[in-house]
Amino acid sequence: MEQAAILHLEDITKHYDQHTTPAVDRVTLTLRQGDLLGLLGPSGCGKTTLLRIVAGFERPQSGLVVLAGHPVAGSGYWTPPEQRNTGMVFQDYALFPHLNVAENVAFGLKNRRSGMNRTSIKKNTADAIALVGLSGLEKRYPHELSGGQQQRVALARALAPRPSLILLDEPLSNLDVQVRLRLRQEVRSILKEIGTSAIFVTHDREEALSISDQVGVMRAGCLEQLGTPEEIYTNPASRFVAEFVTQANFLPARRRGQLWETEVGSFEISNRECPNNIQFPNDAIPDSGELMLREENVILKPDNDAPLLIRDRHFLGREYRYCLQTPSGKELHARTALNTPLPVGIRVQLSVADPSIPIFPTITTSTPITPAYSATGWAMGNGQ
Ligand code: ADP
Repeated sequence: MEQAAILHLEDITKHYDQHTTPAVDRVTLTLRQGDLLGLLGPSGCGKTTLLRIVAGFERPQSGLVVLAGHPVAGSGYWTPPEQRNTGMVFQDYALFPHLNVAENVAFGLKNRRSGMNRTSIKKNTADAIALVGLSGLEKRYPHELSGGQQQRVALARALAPRPSLILLDEPLSNLDVQVRLRLRQEVRSILKEIGTSAIFVTHDREEALSISDQVGVMRAGCLEQLGTPEEIYTNPASRFVAEFVTQANFLPARRRGQLWETEVGSFEISNRECPNNIQFPNDAIPDSGELMLREENVILKPDNDAPLLIRDRHFLGREYRYCLQTPSGKELHARTALNTPLPVGIRVQLSVADPSIPIFPTITTSTPITPAYSATGWAMGNGQ
């Protein structure tokens, strides 16, 4: 059975200043009950503004926000933040320094309109603290906790009133990388354990892909693509999503007969449709475009006559990342297994493991940036 929607945004637009481009531009999306939506995009693309619109801290100029089946903003509706039954977790924890862990977590319960009695407040507080793994630290003050522990307190405080939706604004950005990696999986497990829906704002693609059920990629206020992490990664809907979410090279190519010619070799035009299944409007194969070569799909073979030069090699623990230079000076990257390291300074032939390579129209101001046809994965020799 289809899960019910916890949140529906319809055509949401928000201008801070009517003379500038909107911070959020006609965003429509639906979040299913129990799902975790990762809102991903570069700084300034409107993620926080969208989150604040859902929380009720900002009013959209147009569009409709429907929370748990009730319109809360737009079309004459307005429900203030404290009545929306959402919980918020901020990047900087925002704990009260003069209150201990238990008092911080209980704070929202005491101030709630629900009028919980003391026994319920105590129980909800203890449950929330246990849920985030901080039992035993109830009497500690924020300055006596690590950053990760402080963020757990903030999460417990947001969860204690048992909101229908949790909104997390870059909650892990202030933590060091080890804590961050551990905590992001824990946050997901905790939310899944209690079945709470959430929106998680981040500019870190790996974070978004690893913890979300759905990822929304934003660009300049618009929702560029919404899909599962797998869909976003394998079928990016635009050149922007492809560049932001995947680690890919974009190699200019010209079509000649059945081949895409590039400065590092030629690739056969595939009969298979591009995975994205998005084609040019007039359905004609273009004469030029850019091949999208994922770093992890590139295969390198030593060849003294090949056009590509290995300029550098980085050891990443589980793989090597090669920095390659094309004859025109363009930089390409490849990530390969550790078993056959190639020395810096040699020339290599490039091929691609994936049978179909997305091809994007060359970007000019007038061309669309959605991918078109695909190519197959073997360079047929130096295309110069
Ligand atoms: P993100 O969270 O993706 O970094 P924001 O939602 O914070 O993006 O910002 C989106 C755009 O709105 C940016 O151009 C930012 O400068 C602008 N903006 C954000 N908050 C305000 C504000 N309170 N007043 C005016 N402009 C704002």
